[in-house]
Amino acid sequence: MLYESTRGQFKRVLSAEAIKQGISPDGGLFVPHETALISRDQLKEMVGLSYQAQAAIILRKYLTDYTSEEINECISLSYNSKKFDSPAIAPVCKLNESLYILELWHGPTCAFKDLALQILPHLLTKAAAKTGDLSTIVILVATSGDTGKAALEGFKNVAGTKIIVFYPEHGVSAVQQVQMVTQEGNNVDVVAVRGNFDDAQNGVKNIFGDTGFNKDMLAGNYQLSSANSINWGRLAPQIVYYFSAYLQLVAKGDIAFGEKVNFVVPTGNFGNILSAFYAREMGLPINKLICAANANNVLTDFIRTGAYNRERQFRKTISPSMDILVSSNLERLLYHLTGRDDVKTREWMISLKDKGSYQVDELTLARIDRLFWSDSAEDSETMDTIGSIFDKYGYVTDTHTAVGINVYNKYISATGDKTKAIVASTASPFKFNASVTRAILGDDAVKGKDEFELLEALSAASGMEIPHGLRNLDKKTVLHQRTVSRNDMKEAVNNILKPTN
Ligand SMILES: *Cc1c(COP(=O)(O)O)cnc(C)c1O
Repeated sequence: MLYESTRGQFKRVLSAEAIKQGISPDGGLFVPHETALISRDQLKEMVGLSYQAQAAIILRKYLTDYTSEEINECISLSYNSKKFDSPAIAPVCKLNESLYILELWHGPTCAFKDLALQILPHLLTKAAAKTGDLSTIVILVATSGDTGKAALEGFKNVAGTKIIVFYPEHGVSAVQQVQMVTQEGNNVDVVAVRGNFDDAQNGVKNIFGDTGFNKDMLAGNYQLSSANSINWGRLAPQIVYYFSAYLQLVAKGDIAFGEKVNFVVPTGNFGNILSAFYAREMGLPINKLICAANANNVLTDFIRTGAYNRERQFRKTISPSMDILVSSNLERLLYHLTGRDDVKTREWMISLKDKGSYQVDELTLARIDRLFWSDSAEDSETMDTIGSIFDKYGYVTDTHTAVGINVYNKYISATGDKTKAIVASTASPFKFNASVTRAILGDDAVKGKDEFELLEALSAASGMEIPHGLRNLDKKTVLHQRTVSRNDMKEAVNNILKPTN
């Protein structure tokens, strides 16, 4: 399998090269040059297999330049009982006869990003070895909270790598900040940036784009790389859990083999739902992909009208990991739905950059409409949904997942579609416990309590154990205290990488 750029100005490369480079040098994103298929027979054989075995089958389709041994090693280093607190890795919970929750938060940092960021470091170090690269890989991450911690946990102590995470000084939750600044590992650094998420993100982008700086780095035997969801190495592992979820329902007799399901995905950067799209293309029986947005509903408008317009007020919501106005991975979808038209894709992306908007043609919109449906939820609706799901089923969801369930209810009202639906649950409720506790116990229960005290309150109310990764967080030693202005991020990277004799 070769990978080509969505902007058509770079040669095709093998997966190891695509994963190592992260983004194509022409500014496009790497996509597989043909559709990988799972036949009906193959799918049938996957029923009842372990998550790890299913992952091996899917990943072998995409990473054809890795040996089976290499893929198996990456899988066993990532999806094991030390890292995930569920043997199913991504278990499905049944709420009622037609609604299921795919719990993607049983990994070390309690968000779905663990499913990709546990394995990416191993795919990446093998990629470097396979392409004959002997330099140390330096991962730079700008985070609004979840990605940073998941990347730190994935890369910590992985030989041949270093990771530096930048987060906005006052832009992450208390739990998220403490999760990061107490991070252990011999190759990790965490830096607060005086500014917001965009400042941190722009700083990292500027470092990647600085040719001189990259040259200096290479001279020092450092190769900069990205753990962002533009990297194909993050999308491929996510395809696995859509298969696994479907096969779990077949194995339990909840659906007949071959029966179609709908997936509902709370969406920000369009990475998670794009993996569901790939699963569908591969042959997984999926009817609709329901894209759930919060008040930053740029994707909902796009899916409904074909007009993408990021020129709007950025809204801070209680589902912060979806607070995003430019969904990078949409570029891949456009490339596929236009029949791999790199000229059109490039045109639209340039228009987005220069004018803040673009409009796709009628045919592309019709194709989007056939596959996708979208709506959004305001914070008050999200809170109501958490409360009503708890009252009805005794099940506690986080704020992002609740956006998904809320939008699913709107889908049912709008279409009457009876197809069974699986909602991707992207974070543990404990991770966003202030909103969740308030939604199920009321304002008084949270008054005067910090997020760490609320972990206990939520545990008592839900009967769920506090996840290992969030326990005793406030008692851990702070190991990272560096704060820099946004103009000093490059210098911070230099200082961190400088040999200290
Ligand atoms: C990152 C994240 C999302 C959004 O995922 P995308 O792949 O960027 O669309 C949703 N929920 C949670 C909890 C996340 O951490």
